[in-house]
Amino acid sequence: MNNTFDAIIIGGGIVGTGAGYYLSKKGLNVLLIEKNYLTSGSTGRCITGIRQQFSTPPSIKTAMESVRLFKNMEDEFGFSVEWKDSGYLFLAHTEELASMFKKNIEIQRSVGLDVEFISAEECKKRVPLLDTEALIGGAWCESDGQADPFFVVKGFSSGIVKNHGTIKTRTQVVDIIVEDNKVKGVKTDSGDTYYSRVVINAAGPWAKEVGKMAGVKIDVEPERHEALITEGVEYMGIPMLVDYRPDGGYFVQRVTGQFIGCFTPEKQIPGTSTDSTLEFLKEMSRRMCRLVPALENVSILRQWAGSYCMTPDGNPLVGETEVSGFYVCTGMSGHGFMLGPAITSFLSNYITEGTWPFDLDEILYGRTFGQKESMK
Ligand SMILES: Cc1cc2nc3c(=O)[nH]c(=O)nc-3n(C[C@H](O)[C@H](O)[C@H](O)COP(=O)(O)OP(=O)(O)OC[C@H]3O[C@@H](n4cnc5c(N)ncnc54)[C@H](O)[C@@H]3O)c2cc1C
Repeated sequence: MNNTFDAIIIGGGIVGTGAGYYLSKKGLNVLLIEKNYLTSGSTGRCITGIRQQFSTPPSIKTAMESVRLFKNMEDEFGFSVEWKDSGYLFLAHTEELASMFKKNIEIQRSVGLDVEFISAEECKKRVPLLDTEALIGGAWCESDGQADPFFVVKGFSSGIVKNHGTIKTRTQVVDIIVEDNKVKGVKTDSGDTYYSRVVINAAGPWAKEVGKMAGVKIDVEPERHEALITEGVEYMGIPMLVDYRPDGGYFVQRVTGQFIGCFTPEKQIPGTSTDSTLEFLKEMSRRMCRLVPALENVSILRQWAGSYCMTPDGNPLVGETEVSGFYVCTGMSGHGFMLGPAITSFLSNYITEGTWPFDLDEILYGRTFGQKESMK
């Protein structure tokens, strides 16, 4: 086998396979290396949510581009990725949150997103099973949605192979070759060396370690987040409910009938542990049943944990590093499934054509970390 490629990608999640797909579509001969199996990192552990309700024009426009790409995937891949525009409803139980949502809605509408603030009564009309006690209203965007991460990665990875790229699973990158401040290739745990002038660090929660191999400091930290899924029941179109109360959470009914959800623990749990806890199971089911009491009769099928890869400001970290040809595409801070398609297509354009579609300073590598995303 030829050991020289146009681009080498480290990581087989949504970001690595997305980058590989879009680069291979442009005719580049890509090699993707995954230490475990495709989707084994955060991607196969996410709760499938895809939204465009962010607080700055670049992040909203990026998410809108992702939704466009998700919608086209069935045509592009030739099979369904279970995309469904089931909507996102951000619930405001305080005036403070209501005004934050309204302020963001103005920004979102200014870039063309169809989103509105609706009253508690309207929330109830949209989601009849919702308990609206103490609810003031909610930010509703019906073009937000969901898709299946396993099908999306299957589409991207099959595309890489169709476009004559190579995927190596169960292969770990253990070193990155840098000469004269230029990337030259990677070494793997199977003793092989692969050469390329472009190497992309798409290692998600492990991006910091992979950065170190090239002598580059990647400012990200992994954090454990737990999730659960219920048995499937009749599909009632319950959108992603986002509850920002300190004991809130996020959950949605999958098009296949199950409810899938998680919450952000009050105290961060650093690291890449995938341990699950009984506390989470009890607490998440209490929080879900409080919002949708009918769920009391639905059984939980499975629980798991995965990592968010956090940057200091909660925005992704993307672009070329100080080592020429060594790119990073990580730090998705809990939004990598939804942002992955757009960001990787932008990055592929940048690598091949040298331009970003619009001002993306807030996600670029090398920025000074500033204000945090308020729609976290
Ligand atoms: C509970 C939970 C719920 C979430 N819900 C959502 C959601 O609803 N919507 C959303 O958009 N996002 C969600 N996320 C976040 C989302 O899952 C991540 O942002 C996204 O999957 C990141 O993708 P990635 O490709 O960067 O990382 P990963 O999917 O983690 O992929 C990185 C890959 O790199 C591989 N790797 C690491 N080091 C090496 C090496 N040295 N050599 C070779 N391979 C290596 C790993 O094995 C891994 O497969 C959720 C996350 C969790 C944990």
